[in-house]
Amino acid sequence: MLKYIICLAALSGCATTKQQYGEFEAYVNSFIAEAVSRGVGIDEVELPSTIKLATLKDYTLGVCKVNGTIEINVKYWKSLSLNCREQLLMHELGHCVLNRQHENGGIMAENMTEYPHCKSYAENRTALLDLFFGVTH
Ligand SMILES: [Zn+2]
Repeated sequence: MLKYIICLAALSGCATTKQQYGEFEAYVNSFIAEAVSRGVGIDEVELPSTIKLATLKDYTLGVCKVNGTIEINVKYWKSLSLNCREQLLMHELGHCVLNRQHENGGIMAENMTEYPHCKSYAENRTALLDLFFGVTH
């Protein structure tokens, strides 16, 4: 009987190809949705293996590690507005999934100048995401 239960758990684990990201899952889903709506296919195998809260250096909001794991600074996460949280996750997913480097402005800017509110991200979200995903008008 125990064996049967383990099998079932393994099966349901296999049935869902999506990684589990806990509280970050919604941000990954909106990253995927925004990419797909712009014709950018995101292969799920390229998604980060893990996204988690961690203790990072001061003034560092998040990192994409070499192994593809995203770490978000536990010290700042709660103080970020929802807009900043999304911008931060887009930024780190930009590094980890799209292999993007830092740029002078936009989502891949090294510094989040509008921390902790990110009002202009919210106001210019569509244009910023177009730029981020390489859509030219
Ligand atoms: Zn960065």
